[in-house]
Amino acid sequence: MAKKKTVEHGYHKKHHKAFEKKFLKHSHQHPDKHKDCKFCQKIKDKSTILFENPHIIVVFGRLHHKGHLVILTRAHEEHLMMLHEKTLDSFFTDSIKVCRALHKAIKFDRLNMEYLDNWDPHIHWNIYPRFKTDKDWGNPPVIPGKNAKVKPKEMTEKEMKIFLRELKKIK
Ligand SMILES: [Zn+2]
Repeated sequence: MAKKKTVEHGYHKKHHKAFEKKFLKHSHQHPDKHKDCKFCQKIKDKSTILFENPHIIVVFGRLHHKGHLVILTRAHEEHLMMLHEKTLDSFFTDSIKVCRALHKAIKFDRLNMEYLDNWDPHIHWNIYPRFKTDKDWGNPPVIPGKNAKVKPKEMTEKEMKIFLRELKKIK
C-alpha cells in the first residue's frame, strides 16, 4: 500500500541518493535531515502532497483564495539565485504546468504568483488563482493575517478529480 502511494506521487525513495548527489550543494539541505522542520515533515508524511518531483513539492495553502497552492523546494533552499539549474527550471516550468492543471479544474480568470524568501528554509511560490467575482479582484490578493480565522474555499470533488488527473500528466 505504502509503495503504491509513493508511485502515485511519481517519486521513489531510491531517488533520494541521486537527488542528493546531483542537485544539492550541501548534504545538510536534504529533507531527511531536518526533523523539526514543518515542511520537511510534510515532505516525509506525503499525505498532503498533491504533486512532487525531485525538485518541488505542491500542497494546498490556507485556501483564503480558492485553489491557493504552495509550491516549495524539496531541499532546504533559501536563495532562488543559488538553486541548481535543474531545480530552478522545475521551480519555474513545472510550477506553471501545475498552474495549468489547476486551471483545467477551476477555470480561474487570472493567476497571481507570489515569491518571497524572508525566513522559510524552503523557498516557495504562493499561487493565488483569481476570479472576477473576488472581492479583491483587480488588486493584489488580500491575505488574512496569520492568526485570522479563514473559512477555506475548498474545491469541489469534481474539480479535485480533474486537478489530480491533470497533475498526473506532468512529465
Ligand atoms: Zn525543511
